[in-house]
Amino acid sequence: MARGTWDDFTEKYGFRDGEATEDRDFKARDNLAVALNAREDMRAAKLRAVPYEAPGMHNACILLILANPAGLSDEELLAQPDPKLCDLPDVAEDMDEELRLMIDAAYDPDPPPTGPFCPEHGVPMRCVNAGTSFSAYECPEGCRWVYDGDDGKYVSAASPGWEELKDLYGDEGSPDRAAAGSSARS
Ligand SMILES: [Zn+2]
Repeated sequence: MARGTWDDFTEKYGFRDGEATEDRDFKARDNLAVALNAREDMRAAKLRAVPYEAPGMHNACILLILANPAGLSDEELLAQPDPKLCDLPDVAEDMDEELRLMIDAAYDPDPPPTGPFCPEHGVPMRCVNAGTSFSAYECPEGCRWVYDGDDGKYVSAASPGWEELKDLYGDEGSPDRAAAGSSARS
């Protein structure tokens, strides 16, 4: 079905009484718990969002908001004889909108950055021109690198090696072509 709403995640009859849950709802519920628990206002209010596989015939994909004044773990919180259910703190002026955005992000988490990474700064670089044996990359810090496929190495576009590579491969992956290509794409 459509993505879960806050009510789906928190009510016994959510997700059409549990009939509509899919794997992705459970993953989103777990992601949402992590995101909520990372919030300053949740910690300040001594609250913890705890995923709970509710047993029985109703909605199993539950997120509990529990009082956690003693800083217990999720298992310890759930093992209490009478865990105290709470409301979320007013985490934003427009709480519904804030929650909707958080739920969207929980269903579509940002993928972890994949390389290549700048040899100098260690941050992911953007490919500005993909050639067969020679690709140009730009680091967010402003440095440029070319990947020499024959050598399997990154060469700084500021180094003399860059000129050699250009001679070797002609204009394949040249900065001019890369600039033209990227502006045409954006
Ligand atoms: Zn860099």
